[in-house]
Amino acid sequence: MKFDMIVIGGGLVGASLVAALKDSGLKMALIEPHESMPLPQDDKWDSRVYAISPGSAAFLQELGVWQLMGAERVAPVYEMAVFGDDNTAHINFSAYEIGIPELAFIAENRQLQTAVWEVLKSSNENLHIFCPAKCTAITWQESHVEVQLDDGSQLEAALVVGADGVNSWVRKQAEIDVSCHAYNQIGVVANFSTERPHRQIARQWFRRDGVLALLPLPDKRVSMVWSTTEDHADFLRNLPADELCHRVEEASSHTLGKLQLITPPMGFPLNFVHVDKLIKPRLVLIGDAAHGIHPLAGQGVNLGLRDTRELAAILNARGMRTDCGDFMLLRRYELARKEDILALELATDGLQKLFNNSNPTLARLRNLGLEITNRLPLIKNRLMQQALN
Ligand SMILES: Cc1cc2nc3c(=O)[nH]c(=O)nc-3n(C[C@H](O)[C@H](O)[C@H](O)COP(=O)(O)OP(=O)(O)OC[C@H]3O[C@@H](n4cnc5c(N)ncnc54)[C@H](O)[C@@H]3O)c2cc1C
Repeated sequence: MKFDMIVIGGGLVGASLVAALKDSGLKMALIEPHESMPLPQDDKWDSRVYAISPGSAAFLQELGVWQLMGAERVAPVYEMAVFGDDNTAHINFSAYEIGIPELAFIAENRQLQTAVWEVLKSSNENLHIFCPAKCTAITWQESHVEVQLDDGSQLEAALVVGADGVNSWVRKQAEIDVSCHAYNQIGVVANFSTERPHRQIARQWFRRDGVLALLPLPDKRVSMVWSTTEDHADFLRNLPADELCHRVEEASSHTLGKLQLITPPMGFPLNFVHVDKLIKPRLVLIGDAAHGIHPLAGQGVNLGLRDTRELAAILNARGMRTDCGDFMLLRRYELARKEDILALELATDGLQKLFNNSNPTLARLRNLGLEITNRLPLIKNRLMQQALN
């Protein structure tokens, strides 16, 4: 089977790229091994949520995805409050202060994935979805790429897009060098109902035992991401529900009153991944396959959606270039994306290291840094603008 482009990985980032190119005239294949895409829906809240930036929400709206999200499942964030580990230092960001309606939206992974796959299902005959399907081999030729699937299918395309997540199989096959380190931390996620209203404020505590975030969900509910050591994560995940609630209440200074667990805790290992190259002849990497960052800034999926936006814009405007794997097009993508990716990699990795250090001098400096930044509107605005894209 011959295609112009094969996208390997149908997570939020890969599936969004296909949705963004559905009217491009390109013949596309999407390969996803997960058995039940779109994910089955139920009324239960998904513990895996994302802080979606206004820029990402606008992009998903252009694709027809955002309008499929039930308004009762999406929470706007009007303010963000970040606390240091000395119980006094803090920094506040407010949408009102910079004259925008909201800083972000909190939405569930399952709802987002389902919405984007709904859009794909209504796409035209230019899209062939292989799901569930796994790639078994990939070979790069000068004029095309050959991909073999586990059911024996042989696919051929001018361009392959690796969107298969942080442990990307495609990246390995292409022998792209990566610098990576494990944070030796687990992101423990769970949802709670709260006694007090969260007032659409996303709260984050930099603590000695990691970073705790409580993100607002609709009504009196919050979603927790507690990035902490592997031992502490194990301990938290094995606590009885009321004991876990008690620990989270304490760690969040009882800001939201009594908590009740509404979804069982889950854990995700956290790794830093920096790739040497985003492209190779007839290959592009996007999303977590192209960068793995710590979730403390809630920016991973937003960074991936910015990859998608850029690549889709370049391919949609390819004009007379009939070969979508033309190296000049890929080079344009890499040049456009390098700086944004590197900046966020350095910022998140630096912050993680700064707060994951028990040196008392450093502790004083970082808390002082939070306080000073809080009083410098220009720097604060610059930080906020970065996170809104
Ligand atoms: C605890 C935690 C909290 C987070 N919170 C936020 C947040 O608030 N905001 C934010 O922006 N980001 C957040 N992130 C980051 C975010 O989860 C990732 O950046 C995002 O999921 C990346 O999307 P992706 O589509 O690139 O990769 P994935 O979501 O990993 O999708 C990859 C897809 O590829 C498929 N696949 C895997 N292997 C193969 C293969 N060999 N062949 C074909 N397909 C394959 C998988 O089945 C999957 O569907 C968080 C991450 C963690 C761990």
